Amino acid sequence: MQFADRLKNVETSAIRELFKLLGKPGIISFAGGFPDPALFDVDGIRESSNAVLTNNPGPVLQYGATEGFQPLREGISAFMAHKGATVSPEGLIVTTGSQQALDLIGKTMISPGDKVIVEAPTFLATIQCFRLYGAQLIGAPIDADGVDVDKLEQLIDEHKPKLVYLIPTFGNPSGATLSLERRKRILEIAVRTQTLIVEDDPYGELYFDQAPPPSLLALSDEVPGSRDWLAHCGSFSKILSPGLRVGWLIAPPALLANATMCKQFSDAHTSNLTQAICAHYLTLNRLEGALAVVRKTYADRARVMAESLRRELGSAIAFTQPQGGMFFWANLTGAEGQPCHAPEFAKRAIDKGVAFVPGAPFFAHDPDLSTFRLSFATADVAKIEEGIGRLGQAL
Ligand code: PMP
Repeated sequence: MQFADRLKNVETSAIRELFKLLGKPGIISFAGGFPDPALFDVDGIRESSNAVLTNNPGPVLQYGATEGFQPLREGISAFMAHKGATVSPEGLIVTTGSQQALDLIGKTMISPGDKVIVEAPTFLATIQCFRLYGAQLIGAPIDADGVDVDKLEQLIDEHKPKLVYLIPTFGNPSGATLSLERRKRILEIAVRTQTLIVEDDPYGELYFDQAPPPSLLALSDEVPGSRDWLAHCGSFSKILSPGLRVGWLIAPPALLANATMCKQFSDAHTSNLTQAICAHYLTLNRLEGALAVVRKTYADRARVMAESLRRELGSAIAFTQPQGGMFFWANLTGAEGQPCHAPEFAKRAIDKGVAFVPGAPFFAHDPDLSTFRLSFATADVAKIEEGIGRLGQAL
């Protein structure tokens, strides 16, 4: 069979190949990117499901508007206001996870050969999705404070990209958070260079002690003209449940209209039933309570993971302590003859009964083979101590 040429730009994820090895009994996995299902607010979701199927089931079981279920658009608008960002219900569309928002951005913005700047490293599915549309990806370096803005500005001036894709808050895989000062500069650069910035923000609510700086979207009011160059992707996946597949896209009107048109041909609309469940859930005033538990649990797990890593691996690795999200991003230092090749380390770790993801696939080009990602979201504290102990033995 002759498949479309665009498939030549992508390959199945190296991470999926690794996941095949995870079936081994007794393995402790830090490899996944899933939230902990034990933290889903099942009672609240059940209450909302019952309510929407009892009160007026017809419309939620019927076809609906591509833009989204209106009560949910209103609910998301209020939720964003609570996070400091002003957006009318008409200024957003509901998407089938934020993954679809990214796909719609790719579909509406990227022609084959277009240049797109992403962080190095960045979310693997975005790399694959934008490549499918023929993007030529350019990686911008990051540090503990997020993307290096001087370098980003230089890259924008040099390459004149179609768009810049950033995960400014608790990045996947980097765990890094862009500083307030850098956020403002990025908005200024967007206006000066007339470059679309895509802010992907699925993790911003998962902070430990202190809320992160406001999103680029929230800050856009302070930088005149920046809203015209900003798209923002949000999601209920990490704050409520990923199985609901409900996310959203906020974008300037012309981009939003084109994305809506493309969504019509793609899935017509996101499930009305799960949209209605989310909309009802937001009226229950349970989200803050549920998030408080998630924040505390992930904060404890991240603290224990950091302590265990320092104790068990010492100078063999370097990492920045994340302040939220779900990930540690680390690199093998190679100090004093210690290992420096994460894919080999991952194989030895599996033999010792612990799994993580080597960092190379998260780079659009020039992968750093010393890097790797550990998720602290799904293993409890005892498993984390045990798993990092095994990791120490795999060195
Ligand atoms: N963006 C980032 C950075 C992610 O890590 C994820 C999920 N792991 C997504 C988008 C997609 O999430 P969803 O489609 O479930 O909203």
